[in-house]
Amino acid sequence: MTRPVRARVDVDALRSNLQLARRTAPHSRILAVVKANAYGHGLVPVARALEAADAFGVAGVEEALLLRQAGIQKPIVLLEGFFHAAELDEVIRHGLNLVVHATHQVEALATAALAGPVRVWIKLDTGMHRLGFAPAELAAVQARLQSITGVELAGLMTHFACADDRTDPATQRQLDAFAALGPGAVGEHSLANSAALLGWPEAHADWVRPGLMLYGISPFVDSLAADHGLTPAMTLETELIAIRDCAAGDAVGYGGVWVCPESMPIGVAAIGYGDGYPRHAPAGTPVLVDGRPAQLIGRVSMDMLILDLRGLPEARVGSRVTLWGEGLPVERIARQAGTIPYELVCAVTARVPLLYE
Ligand code: PLP
Repeated sequence: MTRPVRARVDVDALRSNLQLARRTAPHSRILAVVKANAYGHGLVPVARALEAADAFGVAGVEEALLLRQAGIQKPIVLLEGFFHAAELDEVIRHGLNLVVHATHQVEALATAALAGPVRVWIKLDTGMHRLGFAPAELAAVQARLQSITGVELAGLMTHFACADDRTDPATQRQLDAFAALGPGAVGEHSLANSAALLGWPEAHADWVRPGLMLYGISPFVDSLAADHGLTPAMTLETELIAIRDCAAGDAVGYGGVWVCPESMPIGVAAIGYGDGYPRHAPAGTPVLVDGRPAQLIGRVSMDMLILDLRGLPEARVGSRVTLWGEGLPVERIARQAGTIPYELVCAVTARVPLLYE
C-alpha cells in the first residue's frame, strides 16, 4: 500500500447489524441488499459476512454472477428484474429471482422459451411512481405471468418513497394502498427497506429488504446509527502528509477560497474526491485527527484535502485522519456535504483498499 488512504470494514459490525434487523423483524425473512458493491463495502466479503441473511438483493446480473462465482448459493433477487431478454439464460442458469415491474418484461418472459423455472416477484407501485404496476393492473399481470411455462410467482414487492422521514404521511398512504389489495395480494409480500424495517413494524410482512442499516448507518434524516443500536461498518481514513504554518491572510488551496484569519498550522491529508470524498464538503466539515476533532478548510482536491490544525499541537505527519466511521458518523458528513450517506459510501473509489477486520 503506498498512499495511506484506506476504508476499514468491520465484519462484526455487519453481522451485528443483521442480527438487529432480525430482532426488529423477527417474523420476516431478510433479503440483504448488497447492490452497488454492497454500498461501497465490497460485494463478496459483505455477502460472506452476511451469510445468515435469507437472500441477497442486487441491481443486475453482473453483481449476481460475482456472488455465484464466489460460491454464494443463497437466493439472489434482481431488484430491477432484467434489462434485456438476452440476460434470461444467465438468470435461469444461476437460479436468480426476478422482479418484474413493467409489461415489456412480462412479454419478454412470455416469448423467451425459458430453459427452466424462474421465480418472479411482481413490483407494485403503491405511490413512489418510479417502477411498478398500478394496483389495478395486478390481476391481469398475475394471470399473464401464471400462463407462462416456467414462471413461478414469488409474490409482491413494493418500495417506499419517503420512509426516511418518520413524519411524512406518504408511507402510511403506501401501506394503505398495499393493504387495499386485499385477497388479490398473491404470494409472499415484501415492502420494507431499512427505514420501514426500523420505523414501521406493520410493513415487515414476509420479507424485509434492509440495505443501509446493515452497513451501520441510520436510514432516517433525523437520527444517527447509534440511536438505533447500529454499528458503523466502514471507517474511511488516511494520514497527514504535511503540516505547514500559514500567516494571517494566506489563501489556502484551489481558488484560494479559504483565507487564514490568523497565523496558524494547517495539515494536508492524503484523500480527495479521486477517492470518493465529496468535493462539495464545505469548510467546517468535521474530521478526526488521531481521534481528536478538526475541520476541513479550503476546497477538496483530487488526492488531498486541507485541515485547520489550530488546537491540535500533537498532530504529526503520519497522524491518522478519520473522514467518517468510528467516532465520526457518516450521517454528519452527509448533512454537511448536502447529500445522503448512501452516496458517500457508494462513491468510495476503486483505488481505496477495503480492509476487512
Ligand atoms: N429495496 C429496494 C427495491 C431498493 O432499491 C433498496 C435500495 O435502494 C432497498 C430495498 C434497500 O433500501 P435501504 O438501503 O434504504 O434499506
